[in-house]
Amino acid sequence: MSEQLARVLIIGAHPDDGDIKAGGTATLWAEAGHVVRFVSLTDGRAGHHLNPGPAMAERRRAEARAAGAIIGAAYDVLDHPDGELDTRLEYRHELIRLIRSDRPDLIVTHRTNDYHPDHRSTGLLVQDASYLLTVPAVCPDVPHLTACPVILSFSDSFTRPCRFEPDVVVNIGDRFETIVRMLHQHASQFYEWLPYNAGFSGDVPEGDEARLAWLSARFRERIAPLADRYRERIVATYGEARGAGVRLIEAFEVSEYGAPLDAEARTRLFPFLPADAKAEASFVRKSWVDQPEAD
Ligand SMILES: [Zn+2]
Repeated sequence: MSEQLARVLIIGAHPDDGDIKAGGTATLWAEAGHVVRFVSLTDGRAGHHLNPGPAMAERRRAEARAAGAIIGAAYDVLDHPDGELDTRLEYRHELIRLIRSDRPDLIVTHRTNDYHPDHRSTGLLVQDASYLLTVPAVCPDVPHLTACPVILSFSDSFTRPCRFEPDVVVNIGDRFETIVRMLHQHASQFYEWLPYNAGFSGDVPEGDEARLAWLSARFRERIAPLADRYRERIVATYGEARGAGVRLIEAFEVSEYGAPLDAEARTRLFPFLPADAKAEASFVRKSWVDQPEAD
């Protein structure tokens, strides 16, 4: 069984992106025995209307750790100021060192089409790091990887220049309340900043029980449309009968800059998905390493 274990590195821009976008699948990974680590490239210090700054960064770091602890995952928050992330070489090299030290089998991160510049920069930094992970002359102080990991992107609804394509869908219905408990740890965000920013501060209830129920309803409403949007892929993965009943999912797109997600990688990385031959056949997205014109 131990050879089945994998290391999953979920890289978000802010100290809640990873659990918002992949918390249910992260729960399933952790339950399967995979080592799950969340990393936030920024410190989240801009995520508050009343008291932004270094103290907020510390608060968010503690919230993130508590969220990760719910599923036994590490949640590391780097020191870069929230709202100011760019793709400078220094950050790329830091990320190359971080990924090489972690030696993940799978990286999950943002796409590069996104409303938030920190999300875009995070997606770009991972793209920029990906090939160079295997180049010994780059950051020679940390041993290079012999192969790039599989890289997946979180789902999003941005359409230009290209839409998100759901290569992998995961039924997270049975783990939904675990995600809510993770998000509940980010009190500065889900009960303070985001309601303020979106103009519904007055709706936030007091007390853990009422807040959990309120957050659960809101988050369910937010992610429910995904299942109907990607029903075709759900049915290809879970079969007609089971797929029709799936209501809550997380979805991921395979990055062409990582290793291909072939049938072997899919089985190893997603042991909780049905081992359906038809689904597997439609599952492979080619990586650039398979393209004859790549140089
Ligand atoms: Zn974010």
